[in-house]
Amino acid sequence: MMEIQSDGIFLGQKNLGDSKYVAKVFSQDFGLISGLFRVPKHSGNLQAGEYVRVRWRARLEEHLGQSSIERLGGFDPLGLTPRAMQGLLSMSYLLQTALNEREAEARLYEATLYLLAAFSSADWARHYLEWERTFLETMGFGLDLSTCASVGCNMQNLQYISPKSARAVCREHGAPYRDQLFEMPKCWQEQSTDIVDIVAGLHITGYFLKRAFSFVETMPEFRRNLLENLADTP
Ligand SMILES: [Zn+2]
Repeated sequence: MMEIQSDGIFLGQKNLGDSKYVAKVFSQDFGLISGLFRVPKHSGNLQAGEYVRVRWRARLEEHLGQSSIERLGGFDPLGLTPRAMQGLLSMSYLLQTALNEREAEARLYEATLYLLAAFSSADWARHYLEWERTFLETMGFGLDLSTCASVGCNMQNLQYISPKSARAVCREHGAPYRDQLFEMPKCWQEQSTDIVDIVAGLHITGYFLKRAFSFVETMPEFRRNLLENLADTP
């Protein structure tokens, strides 16, 4: 019998009927934990983003296992604005679909805790964008914006991002190919809270998410809404 226990972040659940659910939790110590669980009557539904303590046991490691999930409190997703809620749903979807079962991801976990706290602030979208970069990096598809992708170039005026290599390109080396490159959003070079920059950044991370994960083609109802709503902001 295998048994593990960890604190974590509730990501979502699928109803199998008969008050049985498959729940997914991003746990601090073991990464993604999926398991069958029964909701005790009168306990109320858990929402994505809530802090929980999960206990998971299974006869074999590859089994879905039984879990019990206890709400720890400290974060109330229902208090978020509708837009921040879309960010939260997008984050939860990416995590529950891409994380590997029982593989700890300490840095992404920290970044996710940080983002959850930021969702109630006015500039949550900027934090969400940075979280997507950390997410891509963790999954092995990070953007390298530290130097120009051209061999031996150490120019500081990085102005583009290559959709092929996910690397920065300086103004000189990028100019002849500018139609095929992303313009570097200002918020990735200096502090900028301009929503136009953040939306530009989300288009770029969205491009790399789609390239890395085929599921993103079907996922972004939340994320599409997120982009459209942010772009609408006057
Ligand atoms: Zn260059």
